[in-house]
Amino acid sequence: MSASTPQNQLVDRFGRKISYVRLSVTDRCDLRCVYCMPKKMKFVPRTQLLTLEEMETVGRAFIKLGVDKIRITGGEPLVRQNILQLFRNLGECDDLLDLTLTTNATQLKKYARPLKEAGVTRINVSLDTLKEKRFRDMTRIGDLKKTLAGIDAAIACDFEQIKLNTVILRNYNHDEILDLVNFCIDRGIDISFIEEMPFGQNDHHDRAVSYYSSDQILEDLQQHFELVPGTMTTAGPTRYYRLIGHDNARVGFISPHSHNFCESCNRVRVTAEGRLLLCLGQEHSLDLRHVMRANPGQADVLEQALIDSMQIKPRGHDFNLNSQEILLRHMNLTGG
Ligand code: SAM
Ligand code: SF4
Repeated sequence: MSASTPQNQLVDRFGRKISYVRLSVTDRCDLRCVYCMPKKMKFVPRTQLLTLEEMETVGRAFIKLGVDKIRITGGEPLVRQNILQLFRNLGECDDLLDLTLTTNATQLKKYARPLKEAGVTRINVSLDTLKEKRFRDMTRIGDLKKTLAGIDAAIACDFEQIKLNTVILRNYNHDEILDLVNFCIDRGIDISFIEEMPFGQNDHHDRAVSYYSSDQILEDLQQHFELVPGTMTTAGPTRYYRLIGHDNARVGFISPHSHNFCESCNRVRVTAEGRLLLCLGQEHSLDLRHVMRANPGQADVLEQALIDSMQIKPRGHDFNLNSQEILLRHMNLTGG
């Protein structure tokens, strides 16, 4: 039986129940994707990051309040030292139905099996191109072979779902949409195309010029496949389509610009520093690190703070392609 009752569930002013938390476990990364980080990234001092124990405390408090899905993200989660321990500890919580990971897969060859054993159910892997030189350009320092080896290792472990996350930028990789879908069909995995979001200052490309809409991608794919809107939901903002004749792979779209998904928002995020973000596109937040460090060992104080935070969850985001600086946070700190 679930430990949460209607009185201690997380419900915001608009009646939306929060059941999904994305926990960023580090702002650091072994890649520098051009839409995510500037070339010279300034990371948060380590002392300001939550410890793994504090992250577990936050996770357990959310689970007690009715959250049944936690996604571990970053930065690159697998570069955080001893990260497997956090997966193992959260994986033991009976009321947590879905423990998922978003990763660039550079270290998945080593970690896929232990993650599966720790209770991870599903993995999202970021991959924007299948061309080695382009991969290096788009990640600035990456080696495609490592990521592909990581994907193969994950496939061998039989997770409930493996999905590629792909950001399409006009004139960078929009010519690979079909190849990436075929890559997924060949391996029996899913793919979600994500519209670029305006996080932080971008020193690489003009986001308005590089914008390639989900509708355009769908149109491109319809030249080659019959796509039918699917019924599958994963508690996320992805709109899935089935590919007729290819039952082993689905195509999804995450479209913050062209299809606003705020109305059904069921999630909050916690940054690597312990800042609870009530909305990806707004600055409303609560300092959970302060709450925990000022009240050590007092789980009830943390839980009450989470319940109270529901009063400041905004109705929705306010993304605007032409106002590139509306958000100074970078995606790696926010947790994608
Ligand atoms: N390092 C891991 C990875 O790349 O999968 C996890 C963190 S990353 C920030 C999570 C997701 O955010 C990735 O799929 C990445 O493509 C996406 N992302 C990063 N910056 C973005 C942006 N400006 N707009 C849209 N998606 C972005
Ligand atoms: Fe690192 Fe992920 Fe950001 Fe790429 S998208 S720089 S892999 S955190």
